[in-house]
Amino acid sequence: MTARIIDGNVLSARLRGALAAKAAELTAQGTRPCLAVILVGGDPASAVYVRNKVAGCEKAGIQSLKFEYPQDAAPADVLGKIAELNADPSVHGILVQLPLPRQFDEKTVLEAISVEKDVDGFHAENVGRLSQGQEAFVPCTPNGVMEMLKSIEVPLRGAEAVVIGRSNIVGKPMAMLLTAAGATVTVCHSGTRDLNFHTRRADILVAAIGKPKFVTGDMIKPGATVIDVGINRLPDGKLCGDVDFASAQEVAGAITPVPGGVGPMTITMLLANTVESASRVARKG
Ligand code: NDP
Repeated sequence: MTARIIDGNVLSARLRGALAAKAAELTAQGTRPCLAVILVGGDPASAVYVRNKVAGCEKAGIQSLKFEYPQDAAPADVLGKIAELNADPSVHGILVQLPLPRQFDEKTVLEAISVEKDVDGFHAENVGRLSQGQEAFVPCTPNGVMEMLKSIEVPLRGAEAVVIGRSNIVGKPMAMLLTAAGATVTVCHSGTRDLNFHTRRADILVAAIGKPKFVTGDMIKPGATVIDVGINRLPDGKLCGDVDFASAQEVAGAITPVPGGVGPMTITMLLANTVESASRVARKG
């Protein structure tokens, strides 16, 4: 069997077309969606992510504001900028690119962002709302994964879903979304005994580990849907996921590639959250 490829670029292009139309409509009504991005320090991967997010905004007709701080920036300066952006009615989304330098307390920074502008969905209140099934900004990466699953119409109700990874930004919200969709979810992590036992019974397997080619074909149930969240840079400079694509695609029923899978969908969902935030403001008048 050779797995069907779930192409994140193709799906993103479709969704971004609809978002651009919505952004144009809001702009015509006087509310131009606007995302403010804060980048602290010189981490090259973060700089690339921010560049892609800003470019994504521009293409969709969303205004973007970028604020850069040096590696040794004072947390008070960044918190001051967040307060200013919170108070600015023309800004609908605020994103602080992670990771932050050591002098920062990430939790303090994320919770300084107004819940209404927390388009990354990392604020504790949004996380709590999501866990209770209330309206919330959903973290972009797991939300993008849900769109990918929807696009191939894979049944979720009653499905066995296994998520490898329990981070706040991917693994945990992923498990919440799959649970809400009716799947029976198992969350695995570095302390899991007999990981293969779990992965081999997964109808849907999500890998969010941060270890190149960690999930191999022999760990996958034949016909399973495999979602590779990982982005790892190999010594030769090429990107690869947490799944060994070559062996996995021989066993899986559907699989996401890296690059061109979950990555573009993450940015698409960020744009979607920003447009949604602007719509809420426009509705309030
Ligand atoms: P974290 O490092 O925060 O979490 C990794 C998780 O993997 C942890 O829960 C860890 O377990 C678990 N893990 C590590 N080793 C093993 C193992 N041997 N067996 C089972 N579980 C293991 O990473 P993130 O969640 O932030 O990111 C995961 C990957 O996704 C990275 O490659 C990252 O670059 C990528 N990513 C991609 C995005 C995209 O847009 N496509 C967005 C965000 C992330 P424990 O908790 O016990 O330590």
